[in-house]
Amino acid sequence: MLDADFFRRWMTATAASVDREAERLTALDSPIGDADHGSNLQRGFHAVTAVLEKEAPATPGAVLVLAGRQLISTVGGASGPLYGTLLRRTGKALGEDAEVSEGQFADAFRAGVDAVMALGGAAPGDKTMIDALIPAVDALGDGFGAARAAAEEGALATTPLQARKGRASYLGERSIGHQDPGATSSSLLVAALAEANGE
Ligand code: ADP
Ligand code: MG
Ligand code: MG
Repeated sequence: MLDADFFRRWMTATAASVDREAERLTALDSPIGDADHGSNLQRGFHAVTAVLEKEAPATPGAVLVLAGRQLISTVGGASGPLYGTLLRRTGKALGEDAEVSEGQFADAFRAGVDAVMALGGAAPGDKTMIDALIPAVDALGDGFGAARAAAEEGALATTPLQARKGRASYLGERSIGHQDPGATSSSLLVAALAEANGE
C-alpha cells in the first residue's frame, strides 16, 4: 500500500531529478521552444517540496492536490497548469484514503492524464508530455519499473514526430528531429515513482 509519505517521496525525488536534469530540459526546449522548461519545473518543484514540508498533508490525495495547486500557481509556462492538473486530478481521484493500492493509483493517474488531454487538447502522437504519460499509464499495471521504461521509450519516440500542440507546433516540420522537453520531464516524473518505491 502507498501512504502519504510515499507520495511526498515521489515529489521530492521528482524535484531532485528535475534539479539534476534542468540544463538538459532547457536545452531540449531551446530548438523547439523558448528555453525555459528546466527552469520552469525547477521553480515549480522547489515550491512543491517547500509547501509539502510546511503543511504535511495526511493523505495521498491531499499531497497530490496540494502539489498540483502549487505547480499551477508557481509555473508560468504551459507545463505548469498541465502538470498541476495531472497531480490535482490524480489526487482528487484518490479521495481521502490514508493508504491506496498500486491499482487505485494506476486508475487515478489515468484520470489525471485524461484531464491533461482535456485541458491541453493533445492526443498521443502530437509530440507532447502525453507521449510519455500514456505509455506509462498503460504499463502501470505491471509496476513502477515497467511504467518508467515505457515513459522513457515514449519520450525518445517523440524525436521523429511533428509537434501539433504547444509552442513547438509553431515550427511545423522544423519541429521534427528534436526530442520533446515535456515528454522528457514526464519520464523523469514517472521514474521518480520507482525511486520513491525503492526500485
Ligand atoms: P512553454 O512552452 O510555455 O514555455 P514549457 O517549456 O514549460 O512551457 O513546457 C513545454 C512542454 O509542455 C512541451 O514540451 C510539451 O510537452 C508540453 N505541452 C505544451 N503544450 C501542451 C498541450 N497542449 N498539451 C500537452 N502538453 C503540452
Ligand atoms: Mg518553454
Ligand atoms: Mg515559456
